[in-house]
Amino acid sequence: MEMLNGRELAKNIKKTITEKIKIITKTTNQNPALATVLIGENPASQIYIQSKIKACHEVGIKSYHYNLSTNATERDIINLINDLNNNSNINGILLQLPLPQHSLTNNCINTINPNKDVDGLHPLSYGRFSLLKSWEDILKSNLLVPCTPLGIMKLLQYYNIEVNKKLVLVIGRSNLVGKPIAMLMLAKNATVIMAHSKTVNLKQLTAIADIIIIAIGIPNFLSNKYSLKKGVVIIDVGINRTQHGICGDVDLDYVKTKNVAISPVPGGVGTMTITMLLENTLKAFINQNKLKFPQL
Ligand code: NAP
Repeated sequence: MEMLNGRELAKNIKKTITEKIKIITKTTNQNPALATVLIGENPASQIYIQSKIKACHEVGIKSYHYNLSTNATERDIINLINDLNNNSNINGILLQLPLPQHSLTNNCINTINPNKDVDGLHPLSYGRFSLLKSWEDILKSNLLVPCTPLGIMKLLQYYNIEVNKKLVLVIGRSNLVGKPIAMLMLAKNATVIMAHSKTVNLKQLTAIADIIIIAIGIPNFLSNKYSLKKGVVIIDVGINRTQHGICGDVDLDYVKTKNVAISPVPGGVGTMTITMLLENTLKAFINQNKLKFPQL
């Protein structure tokens, strides 16, 4: 079993981001700035936000945190987002999901100025990258692509894992992970199969896939009930808190006996997600200030 270590790559990318920000600060006397918005007191969300703020400070991104109460109304959240949209000192806005009131999610995300949408979840951000045909076009465009799928693409690229012409099985069809990673895989010429809770023949699909990306939130779901193709690459996106600690959607005890490459949990996709948030914040700053230094 080969491990696809996200921490190693994240460290390299963070180093590059730090160097770019030093150049920016020297030239413009400014630092990119990210606003994090948390509604309520969900303990897991608080941990994620703290990790994001810490990562910002490590690379020289300023961060401003806003915490509204669980009882905040849609108007309260939208007013805050509008204030941040209009604040020229803020380059990126991250609304931590899930919101306590799930039904407000779309309206709140839709309020974020797409140029500050560092999570890449606004319909315009989504549409912009989905409409481009190739991965090269997406990279060249400087678009804000959703962080987790972008991190997965970079992880595969770092480990020289070929996507072109491969059969990719995406398990989970969330807006956050499943749907956007499928679009990026298509842009890289993969043949993509999307599976979800209503899929009836999942066992047949896991047996033929060259790459499996699983994001469903069920601990150890991909277990010995599922056959795997020799040499399959598995990207485990799941983050599940169990009484034994954090684990992914893949049963590591099962896959470690197989000829596979896998991104571990923790230490795989999660670390890359935060790093892509930093990269998107830097990108948003560069786009907003129309910077064109060759080093950037
Ligand atoms: P989500 O919104 O929780 O949706 C789960 C998806 O899994 C749905 O599409 C659902 O199908 C599908 N599903 C559920 N049971 C299934 C089954 N038995 N067989 C096949 N598909 C099934 O998804 P998410 O937000 O993408 O989160 C998924 C996991 O990834 C969670 O553990 C989350 O914490 C983690 N996550 C990690 C990162 C990271 O940075 N590493 C980022 C985001 C999320 P239906 O659509 O049919 O209901």
